Amino acid sequence: MDIELIADLSHKAGAMLIVDNVMATGLLQKPLELGADAVMYSATKHIDGQGRVLGGAIIGSSDYINNTVRLFARHTGPTMSPFNAWVLLKSLETYELRVSQMTKSAQYLAEQLSVAKGVKRVIYPHLDSHPDFALAKKQMSAGGTTIAIELAGNKKAAFKLIDALEVIDISNNLGDSRSLITHPATTTHHRLDPEVRQKLGISDSMLRISVGLEDQEDLLEDLLLALKN
Ligand SMILES: *Cc1c(COP(=O)(O)O)cnc(C)c1O
Repeated sequence: MDIELIADLSHKAGAMLIVDNVMATGLLQKPLELGADAVMYSATKHIDGQGRVLGGAIIGSSDYINNTVRLFARHTGPTMSPFNAWVLLKSLETYELRVSQMTKSAQYLAEQLSVAKGVKRVIYPHLDSHPDFALAKKQMSAGGTTIAIELAGNKKAAFKLIDALEVIDISNNLGDSRSLITHPATTTHHRLDPEVRQKLGISDSMLRISVGLEDQEDLLEDLLLALKN
C-alpha cells in the first residue's frame, strides 16, 4: 500500500490514517514519516519475538494517545501485566539485531526459492518479481521477515511440504526467532469465502513462511528437502 498516497487521500477526506505496521516492521518502514497519523503493532510478533507474551502498541500524537487511546483503555481494560511489559521492554533491546538478521535470511530464501523446483511463485516485497517492487523499495528499507510461496501443486502438496519440514515449525505466529510456516487458506484466512480468498490471491497451494534466526543454509536445505519429498 502506498502510505503517502493514502495519507494524502485520507486527509483530503477529513479522515485519519492508522497503519497496521506488523508485517513491514517498525525497523524497516516508518509510516509516521510518510504521513500516517497513528501506527499499531502486535507486540506479540517481532517485539516479543520469542513466542512468550501477548501485547500491542499504538503510536500517535500525544493528543490522540491521551484523549482517544487512553480513555478507551481506561474504560475497557486492555491493561498489560507488569511482567509482560517487562518481557517486551527487554526484547526491544535485541529487536534491531533480530529483525535485521531475520530480514537478511528472508531475502536470501526468497531469492533461492524463486528458482527452486516445485515452487510456482514467491511473493516478497524486495524481489523484482513483486508487482509493487518499486513502491516497496521506496517505502521499506528491506523486504521484511515474511515470505509467501505458491507451490506447483494443490493443498495436498502444501500439507506434504509442511509435514516434511524438520527445522521450520508449523504455527500461525510470525516475527519469531524460530522459523514458522502456516497454510493461510485453512488457518488465518479459513473464515473467508473461497471466492474472496481467490480474489485476495490466497490459493490452496500457498504457504506463509516467517523467517527466524536459524542458519539460513539450514532453512534453505529444510525447504529444498521437503520440496523433493
Ligand atoms: C497478529 C497480528 C495482529 C493481531 O495481534 P495479536 O497480538 O494477535 O492480538 C494484527 N495485525 C497483524 C498484521 C498481525 O500479524
